[in-house]
Amino acid sequence: MAVTTIRHSLPCTKCGYDLEGLEARGVCPECGTPIVESLTARLDASTARFEDMPNPRRVAGTVFLGSLGALGGSCILLALLIDLVAESTGTTELRTAVTPLRNTALVTTAIGFLGFALVLPWRREQRFMRAKALGTVGFLAWCAAALVDVSTVSTTYCALPATLVLFAIAPLLRALAPRSRAYRNARATAQRVEGLLLSNGLAGGASATALFFADAPDLSGLTGTLRAIALAAGLLTIVGLAYLVLNAAWLVRASLKPLLSVEETFGRPDSSKPG
Ligand SMILES: [Zn+2]
Repeated sequence: MAVTTIRHSLPCTKCGYDLEGLEARGVCPECGTPIVESLTARLDASTARFEDMPNPRRVAGTVFLGSLGALGGSCILLALLIDLVAESTGTTELRTAVTPLRNTALVTTAIGFLGFALVLPWRREQRFMRAKALGTVGFLAWCAAALVDVSTVSTTYCALPATLVLFAIAPLLRALAPRSRAYRNARATAQRVEGLLLSNGLAGGASATALFFADAPDLSGLTGTLRAIALAAGLLTIVGLAYLVLNAAWLVRASLKPLLSVEETFGRPDSSKPG
């Protein structure tokens, strides 16, 4: 039966040998692994429901660079923490860590900017255009924050570009997620970015309110609590961003080994494409 012949490039899961042109019921001529194993790894019944996307690899690359930039950008918060600890304990040696952290934030946010500016494909579709605009503006503003001296004000300000960047990443992540089985099974898509938006907003909001009331001596209890909330929410955001980078790496992996449909793999019965 012609239908069981593999008509699409399909590397063997074990040795990578291209199984195109072989019978699906056979074994890999190089390593003897049943071809069905390689098929189960790549064939996916839900490919028909995937969104049409011009270049999933570049979109996945953008999500990866964007989340990496966001994680790196949050080094500003760590720099502030170290600075505050150095000040309150009088250990000036700690301050040597501040500049490298700021530089890390500067470089990674620049990478995030390039991701949205160059890697994300141009497309006349509102979702993509909005992601490009929010991502580039967000990372530019974040980059600028890494250029000034680390302070509570400049760190609080970072919550704003972080929000823009998260809003840029969210729709791309949602569009890509079904293409990765691992990601789909983890059911981690939209909720995670929403959680990040929440913790980031809480950190920025609490810190800004604390700054606003900083000069009111009778409110020192309140500002102390707000600062503690901001710090906890900020650190929670960093952990969430680290997860996002890992998830983005999964999506990049999935985009390099895209799932195949039955039609793609075995060809159409009449072996001629319509239109
Ligand atoms: Zn093989």
